[in-house]
Amino acid sequence: MSETLSRHTGSYYAASANPTPKRPALDGRQVADVCVIGAGYTGISTALHLAEAGYKVIVLEAARVGWGASGRNGGQIVNSYSRDMDVIEARHGKEAARRIGAMAFEGGRIIRERIAKYDIQCDLKDGNVFAAFTQKQLDEMAAKKALWEAYGHTGLKLIDKAGMQDIVQSDAYVGALLDNWGGHIHPLNLALGEAAAFESLGGVIYEQSPVTAVIEGDKPSVKTLHGEVSADFVVVAGNAYLGNLIPKLAEKTLPCGTQVVTTAPLDAKLAQALLPGNNCVEDCNFLLDYYRLTADNRLLYGGGTVYGARDPGAIENLVRPKLEKTFPQLKGVKIDYSWTGNFSLTLTRLPQAGRIGKNIYYSQGCSGHGVTYTHLAGRLLSEAIRGQSERFDAFASLPHYPFPGGRLLRVPMLTLGAWWYEMRDKMGV
Ligand SMILES: Cc1cc2nc3c(=O)[nH]c(=O)nc-3n(C[C@H](O)[C@H](O)[C@H](O)COP(=O)(O)OP(=O)(O)OC[C@H]3O[C@@H](n4cnc5c(N)ncnc54)[C@H](O)[C@@H]3O)c2cc1C
Repeated sequence: MSETLSRHTGSYYAASANPTPKRPALDGRQVADVCVIGAGYTGISTALHLAEAGYKVIVLEAARVGWGASGRNGGQIVNSYSRDMDVIEARHGKEAARRIGAMAFEGGRIIRERIAKYDIQCDLKDGNVFAAFTQKQLDEMAAKKALWEAYGHTGLKLIDKAGMQDIVQSDAYVGALLDNWGGHIHPLNLALGEAAAFESLGGVIYEQSPVTAVIEGDKPSVKTLHGEVSADFVVVAGNAYLGNLIPKLAEKTLPCGTQVVTTAPLDAKLAQALLPGNNCVEDCNFLLDYYRLTADNRLLYGGGTVYGARDPGAIENLVRPKLEKTFPQLKGVKIDYSWTGNFSLTLTRLPQAGRIGKNIYYSQGCSGHGVTYTHLAGRLLSEAIRGQSERFDAFASLPHYPFPGGRLLRVPMLTLGAWWYEMRDKMGV
């Protein structure tokens, strides 16, 4: 981690975050039922489920609650996974697709339940859109609709070119799929609200407490610079920011950077005209753009994908041309915030969940679509720790491949892969 750990990145979210306390760093020895490493959605969601079940849980966060991807993302509630059930079925068989497909829409429901139960103020809006540039992509969206409906998901609508004027004021698209059970949120405020809910149940979070070692054993222990937590179970939830703390987890994922900008507040009429349904949008390219309005009528636009987690020198220069291509009417618009964040990619683009020994659990590698999956993962991790691991094992039984080429070659190979997909996107094939 090369960024400062003492404060959030300079994002729109950090500037508009709800008030939150600064938590102390761990100092000395503590004992818990469960120690969670990382206070993003995966960690906090797990901790909250366990606290609701009466477990004593300590969360150790290297920086601040929501400092990682969970406090910097596009805020898009996108259902299912980065790879859908048809891909799971083709690769891993009908039974795996059935078991994992049965959970594909649960993460989004958990988010809504959390927001309602704990009255979390995070600007929830319904509806996400997958926008197609080509007829081929629109046909894929029609197939997605049929697939999701076969798994019981409702609220989907295929939009044609004429219907796009009610969705987004851009000539770029031939149509789209609207998922009314998708939506968008202020992601950092969701994380902060969930952390507060966890603390209201007696949970404890230490910030500024990077974990330096995890010692396996009957009662594993987790060490920081000035303290140690001994627990019955450990949950590793550091995802793209975990670094090399546990090398056998690091070799199976690749941290990738993605870049986001936020404009100055737009005139309310202009904002409403850009996105009349106030849905969030992601396009159907492999290297996709994603955007939405914020509660104060800014356009929040993400689009760069700089592989290997390198910070680009000028994020605005990278993302502005994409924003202006989608919305030529915003040419020269003032950008107030630009930032980058890391998500973690797996070779299969399916998330990885599993155990190290019998009492250290992990979940990582949401491959760009993690807002809903991480909430599901928290529930599955908590179920497994409570002795109900059938649903967790549906994910744990998927193969986790290491990236070929080891640490040195992973980034160049992925850059080559990204270049190929960019060409493919450009050619519309
Ligand atoms: C810019 C961006 C845009 C995105 N947009 C979307 C989107 O719109 N929709 C969507 O579905 N997904 C999106 N994603 C992906 C999504 O945000 C992530 O998949 C998800 O937030 C991951 O949550 P997490 O809790 O697993 O990891 P994180 O939120 O990254 O949390 C991990 C935490 O662990 C801590 N940590 C790491 N190592 C240690 C250690 N050694 N000791 C203690 N703590 C440690 C970190 O400080 C961090 O706070 C986006 C990601 C990015 C970066």
